[in-house]
Amino acid sequence: MKRSEFIKISGLAGLSLVIFPHFSFNILSEDFTRNQLIGKGNPDIIGDSYTSKMHKSAKEAFAQMKAAAARENIKLEVVSAYRSFQRQKEIFERKYKQFTGQGLTPEKAIGKIIEYSTIPGTSRHHWGTDLDIIDANAPRPSNVLLPENFHGNGAFCNLKMWMDDNSGNFGFFEVYTDNGNRKGFKYEPWHFSFAPVSIPMLKAYQEKINVKKMLREEKILGSDHFSESFISQYINKNILDINPRLLP
Ligand SMILES: [Zn+2]
Repeated sequence: MKRSEFIKISGLAGLSLVIFPHFSFNILSEDFTRNQLIGKGNPDIIGDSYTSKMHKSAKEAFAQMKAAAARENIKLEVVSAYRSFQRQKEIFERKYKQFTGQGLTPEKAIGKIIEYSTIPGTSRHHWGTDLDIIDANAPRPSNVLLPENFHGNGAFCNLKMWMDDNSGNFGFFEVYTDNGNRKGFKYEPWHFSFAPVSIPMLKAYQEKINVKKMLREEKILGSDHFSESFISQYINKNILDINPRLLP
């Protein structure tokens, strides 16, 4: 092993021990394949449903966090965890057909889709590290994933306060924070990412995935209309303009 590699590896392991005392990880960006990064199969994803499929390390950490929250009368419930490439492709293409069918140009349709949905192959839910979380002990609003549920008199205020104080101790951080200067996806107080795995995955994603090429190869409907400038903006805003705590 070269000296520089040794420093990099031991540095990362040491860092994970300091920041995440419950876990000692030594996960490197080189460990991830193209398919793992775009949601097309990952042997480390375990679970059998939309809300229980997660990266095994995220699952373990989530179980510990859930137990700790339960002691404060908060019942962490996952409403969305791992999502496959195929599932995201179905969502994207259904909306693309719908919006272009209503007369929108392909470019406008794509712009409208990405207000709320990701382009297949670019979702953090593909990694099994990211979870949408609510409080099952609170009265359930008709639409659970709205920012107002987490503020003011919202049902999930206790959850929000507890997560602000504690989730980082278990390795989980909000991704799309309430920062007015942030571009890309809107504020999502329910969406958390397990940093010890998602940081190396994002690093690997940046190193290995050419988004434009990937979209062509995967024959996504509408991919002919993704311009070079659109893709680079999408990468800078929607993929990289996130909580700095989650950047490599
Ligand atoms: Zn989410």
